[in-house]
Amino acid sequence: MSLRTGKLGHADYGGTLEVAADVAVIGAGAGGCAAAFALARRGLKVAVFEEGRHWSPADFKPDNPFALRNLYQDQGTRAAIGEGLMPINGGRGVGGSTLINSAISFRTPPQVLSGWRERFGFDPEGSFERRLDEVWETLGIIVNPENVQGRNNTIFRDGVEALGIPGGAFMHRSAPGCGGCGVCQLGCPSGGKNSADRTFLARALLSGNVGVYADCRAESVESDGGRVTAVGGRVLDHDFNTVGTWRVTAPRFVLSGGPIGSPRFLTANGMAPNDHVGRHLRLHPASAVCAKFDEPIRHWWGVSQGYYVDRWEEGFLLETGTVTPDVSFMALPLALGEEINQVMADLPYLAAAGAMVHDEDTVAEVGATTISFSFGEQDRRRLIQGLRACARIFFAAGARYAVPPVTGLGILRPGDDLDAALSLDLPFHRIRALSSHPMGTCRMGTDPDTSVVGPDGRVWGWENLHVADASVFPSSLGVNPQVTVMACGLMIGDAAAAAEGA
Ligand SMILES: Cc1cc2nc3c(=O)[nH]c(=O)nc-3n(C[C@H](O)[C@H](O)[C@H](O)COP(=O)(O)OP(=O)(O)OC[C@H]3O[C@@H](n4cnc5c(N)ncnc54)[C@H](O)[C@@H]3O)c2cc1C
Repeated sequence: MSLRTGKLGHADYGGTLEVAADVAVIGAGAGGCAAAFALARRGLKVAVFEEGRHWSPADFKPDNPFALRNLYQDQGTRAAIGEGLMPINGGRGVGGSTLINSAISFRTPPQVLSGWRERFGFDPEGSFERRLDEVWETLGIIVNPENVQGRNNTIFRDGVEALGIPGGAFMHRSAPGCGGCGVCQLGCPSGGKNSADRTFLARALLSGNVGVYADCRAESVESDGGRVTAVGGRVLDHDFNTVGTWRVTAPRFVLSGGPIGSPRFLTANGMAPNDHVGRHLRLHPASAVCAKFDEPIRHWWGVSQGYYVDRWEEGFLLETGTVTPDVSFMALPLALGEEINQVMADLPYLAAAGAMVHDEDTVAEVGATTISFSFGEQDRRRLIQGLRACARIFFAAGARYAVPPVTGLGILRPGDDLDAALSLDLPFHRIRALSSHPMGTCRMGTDPDTSVVGPDGRVWGWENLHVADASVFPSSLGVNPQVTVMACGLMIGDAAAAAEGA
């Protein structure tokens, strides 16, 4: 029983895998990869276990069914149930959701960070800005040049400028080599995106102290009093068949299964310190408008999400977005018939952008098998206001028509009364929304009765178990989260290393 270093998968294990390490990290997403790096650079032997597989750019295909089956949690079927269904996207594989994200990069908004510090004891060392700098540098974050942005992004900018709306800009992205092929959410086939596996985890592997065990789903825990002594589970092949078992012993564990996986793991193993585990789920619900122009847009070409408008005071961000033609068809809120046929025929001329709300009064939680939500009044109104803004911007840029994501509404044309069509009374179940940014389900705080982990990421009541992923956010972030998640991974990884005397 020892630590094998390097990248390993199910074919390397035989029937039963036994590993011993200084620290075991469960889940290799944004948080887990950053935590593994922080631990390894302090000389610790780190074993990382991930239920999905290792990927390289050549493995990805510009094919939605392939991506959903192989790269998405629950093969793309994960959704929250409330006033309708809200898909909740998440990645599966070494790199986690960063394998399929759009590389949009924001630092933690200062007002959010100061609120977390004051109210939740976040970042007791005052080191978070330095950690954000480190993430920024490690991911090679830049603004992609205009020649790869594509017209989908620049036409939205044109509308923003025509209306004189402040707060618009091309977004920073962790894709310095982006060639604009527009399929970030199917896995980056060019290697132009710096996902967590290609940055933090690759650097951790260079230390020679790290083994990354793919195809290993964590399911069970052994413990002694308030200490975890081992974690184990099943080995899966790439068709999801169980082909073995695994078990790791270590003096310290870091759980990084993401904001859905981590609370479920704690609850399933009877480790929840209180009933806040799985609660306080924040979703950043998002919804998009598409619009038809006279000139070809070819929204599938160019940076997949390149331009944004910050409407912080109004509680939302506007961001451009693209999807592949098959997803465009499924996403259109139009009944089968002439209208949708016409819109699909116009596909090369369509642009798309959406609103993402900060998520303040929606109540949502992760249960053992379900995710539930009750959409907040304020969030609903903000989402509708964001959609109105998108439609206005498109009309200012010259759109011939716009299709808001509202069932039963149909197509809007220039001069239509947008406020009446997108009435603030629209019920949420008529709006097609999704979430790619779940967070907050093991929230950090200083009060063991109202939070799940303390400021060092340690689960209350457990001496040697930390959580390092988006679930530790004390509240909604309000911007795309990967940079903040990775900075949390570094902070909590360092705290776990310090607890081991490293
Ligand atoms: C489609 C999409 C687009 C996005 N776009 C952006 C963007 O442009 N910019 C941005 O900032 N953010 C974006 N995000 C969000 C961002 O990627 C996530 O917030 C971030 O990756 C979350 O990090 P995490 O460590 O919490 O979880 P994840 O990165 O999701 O990683 C969790 C990992 O744990 C594994 N796991 C779970 N349970 C177990 C278990 N029991 N055993 C073993 N392994 C397990 C999972 O397979 C997964 O690999 C996007 C997300 C999605 C899904």
